[in-house]
Amino acid sequence: MNDESELKPLLCGCGKEVRYSHFKDGKEVMSCNKYTVCLTYDEQREKLQELQSKYHQLLYAVKRKFPGESRHETALRYIRAAEELPACEVAKCEAT
Ligand SMILES: [Zn+2]
Repeated sequence: MNDESELKPLLCGCGKEVRYSHFKDGKEVMSCNKYTVCLTYDEQREKLQELQSKYHQLLYAVKRKFPGESRHETALRYIRAAEELPACEVAKCEAT
């Protein structure tokens, strides 16, 4: 019998123990997930940073703060209002 306490469990990119093998770019890759290979911590961090900067770009397009509304809520309200405009109104806006 192997002394399992000395065996370090192989960890997935996400930090969980690996359980499934996948073939990715011709190589065998282990993952905790049966259906996909998890991103590594660095890859996840990179994606999060990209999302965060895109989200901030949207939020800070809102120049005026409205009482009782977060920037997120104001941005959402603006987008929904613009989407609800009839197509001819949008065309008028674009013409000016
Ligand atoms: Zn994982």
